Amino acid sequence: MKYAIISDIHANYDALSVVLEKCRELAIEDFICLGDIVGYNAEPERCLNAVRQLNLLGCVKGNHDEYVAGDSESMEGFNPHARKAVLWTKEQLVEEERQWLRERPLRQTIPNSNITIVHATLDSPEAWGYIFDIHHAADNFSYQFTQLCFCGHSHVPVAFCKKPITNSSEKPIIELYDWAYKRNEEYAPLDAGVADNITIDILPGYKYLINVGSVGQPRNNDPRASFAIYDRSAQTVTRFRLPYDIKSQQEKIRAAQLPERLALRLATGS
Ligand code: ZN
Repeated sequence: MKYAIISDIHANYDALSVVLEKCRELAIEDFICLGDIVGYNAEPERCLNAVRQLNLLGCVKGNHDEYVAGDSESMEGFNPHARKAVLWTKEQLVEEERQWLRERPLRQTIPNSNITIVHATLDSPEAWGYIFDIHHAADNFSYQFTQLCFCGHSHVPVAFCKKPITNSSEKPIIELYDWAYKRNEEYAPLDAGVADNITIDILPGYKYLINVGSVGQPRNNDPRASFAIYDRSAQTVTRFRLPYDIKSQQEKIRAAQLPERLALRLATGS
């Protein structure tokens, strides 16, 4: 049994459709969504409809979902571009769609599985904190009661594991650096069009905290859509990067008169 884990789609249907096509190719039927389906890009309703049609085992709310679905105009920590996109997105959705977003939980344990999901952090999901390093991961692990936790929010893929305690001199939490692979000049050029997949093994007794990266607005200097597949029988998690039609989404952003910065950042993955 395999699950696709998708996060931070951010109203980018050009990216989402490529990810869903890949999942069809791989015969993946079950999906887990880590929130921020909307915000930033130009196709919120289309993305929301596409996600709702999936066989969703779980779907949590992101901060953009919350602001779009809510009535408050206070968006703490948001830059003017993100704020403008939220206000624009509100007008694109009907009340029933906003209500669906509003009803998503902040964290969720997937029934009959070893998986918990959250958009931001398990320790205080409503505070929308970020997990970038081992200290953040340690806070999260204190609240993680399943073997796997998938999160999003930073748009930067990172993964940590917590070892079963063996002796006191050993560090219990380590970062899995392969997962956080950054694309730069040392690797293939950006237009190589080759998906590089990174697989980690899920070992018995260990706990894992995994950020799967962003489908619709990647930020680790790699503009390709990012998502992951958990293979439950093989006990592996694989991260995929897929090129998509960035120009098409940029044109839609401009046609919607959303901030130019939102179009530009798609091309640089920043
Ligand atoms: Zn996001």
